[in-house]
Amino acid sequence: MPAYDFRCNDCGELFTVRCSISEKENVTCPTCGGKNLTQRLTGFMVMGKSSSNGEGAMASGSSCSGKSCSGCAGC
Ligand SMILES: [Zn+2]
Repeated sequence: MPAYDFRCNDCGELFTVRCSISEKENVTCPTCGGKNLTQRLTGFMVMGKSSSNGEGAMASGSSCSGKSCSGCAGC
């Protein structure tokens, strides 16, 4: 089950909630009960770093199908 980091805009509380994507719409602040929350994208940033490395590897590979080409150092 994914974990989501939120910051409460009312009291500034930082907290993490483990819930489904549909349930996170109903998350409230554990300190003040407020629903004025900002989702913090800490988890997604980590995923973005790893995926960007993967995209770079895939991009260099996909630019050349293994056939002779002028723009590929591997051919
Ligand atoms: Zn709060």
